[in-house]
Amino acid sequence: MASSPLHLARRMAALEPSATLAMAARAGSMRAAGIDVIDLSVGEPDFPTPEHICRAGAEAIAAGFTKYTPAAGIPALRKAVAEDYTRRTGLAVTPAQVVISNGAKHALHNVFTALLDEGDEVIVPAPFWVSYAELVKLSGGKPVLIETAIEDNFKLRPEALRQAITPRTRLLLICSPSNPTGVVYAPEELAALADVAIEADLAIVADEIYDQLVFDGRTSPSFPTLRPGLEHRTVVVAGVSKTYSMTGWRIGWTIAPEPLSKAIANLQSQETSNPSSIGQHAAVAALTGPQACVTAMRDAFQVRRDVVSHRLRALPGIRLPEIGGAFYAFFDIREPLAAAGHAGISSSLAWCEALLEQQQVALVAGSAFGAEGHVRMSFAASEAQLHAGLDRIAAFLADPTARRG
Ligand code: PMP
Ligand code: GLU
Repeated sequence: MASSPLHLARRMAALEPSATLAMAARAGSMRAAGIDVIDLSVGEPDFPTPEHICRAGAEAIAAGFTKYTPAAGIPALRKAVAEDYTRRTGLAVTPAQVVISNGAKHALHNVFTALLDEGDEVIVPAPFWVSYAELVKLSGGKPVLIETAIEDNFKLRPEALRQAITPRTRLLLICSPSNPTGVVYAPEELAALADVAIEADLAIVADEIYDQLVFDGRTSPSFPTLRPGLEHRTVVVAGVSKTYSMTGWRIGWTIAPEPLSKAIANLQSQETSNPSSIGQHAAVAALTGPQACVTAMRDAFQVRRDVVSHRLRALPGIRLPEIGGAFYAFFDIREPLAAAGHAGISSSLAWCEALLEQQQVALVAGSAFGAEGHVRMSFAASEAQLHAGLDRIAAFLADPTARRG
């Protein structure tokens, strides 16, 4: 048979769909079919977007801010991002260094497209957030995955980083607080990685989208603040999705040296133009308005972190790193997986499929994050949902062949 004229480009051949979004969609359609699913798959705050932010969006519509904006974002938002960042980190940045994009995912895509040539290597510590490897590949780059160990709290060690560097290495991608592990690097740990990156003349992409979701009264330093001059080689990626529960508004950004920001703005002007004008106005309200909502959500996530860590650690064979931030528990299921071999369950994906089938709980397989033998649970859900989900997981561990009745 002749091949279709709509055959896909080579770059599409290896592209995986987002496993997190795929699992959430599956749980959503099961729920729509009347099945009582507990969806702990996607990483999305379960709180509504705070009212004053929604109001700013509605006011933007009423005031007629419903047209194109400058491709790099409205000046008020670029200024608000720069000022908020400077206030929180002490590092001076100008609005010209900020480009507003359609979410942090788009911001990452912009950075890779702007920086990577064919075959350039990007070092990505694993477990990593599902989209990193795919976005790097889409831009012609080569993700170089470095495995980390649960015993090290899934933190990349400087020696491992040094060993992975080749003449083709361009970038180090670092995410702290981490999706999917919830682990937060200490300042000195990040500084040690920064020293290796400086020595090898690498650029760094620091995904700091969870930077305000840090527990136990701690904070997470912004990467460029760790050593003098790091800001000249670092791109910070962040956004409003997680901090202000604004995932659907699609507003994220990059903070980068001005020449790179200009290039990203040019790229965006050809690719997508500006992000939603309404979303941008709402994001200004988020950044410049009262911040009590941020603290309240963080406190709620911390309580849930305590519940989930306590209960998961009590389950047989489950191991969990220290969760310092974000809203994920990434746990080791190698022991229960070995025990479930008799039921034909031999991978994290099969384990998640069986858990969904037998107990109607949606988690995401570790293989999607480059860490087979683990699974990710989002604890951005009510405590009641989390308890119910954990009860079901306990039942599944006790007998993976029994269906919830
Ligand atoms: N980076 C990380 C680590 C994330 O978890 C997410 C959430 N999807 C993103 C980037 C993208 O966020 P968004 O596109 O919603 O701003
Ligand atoms: N960051 C979230 C997650 O990892 C959102 C889903 C996505 O964008 O992949 O679940």
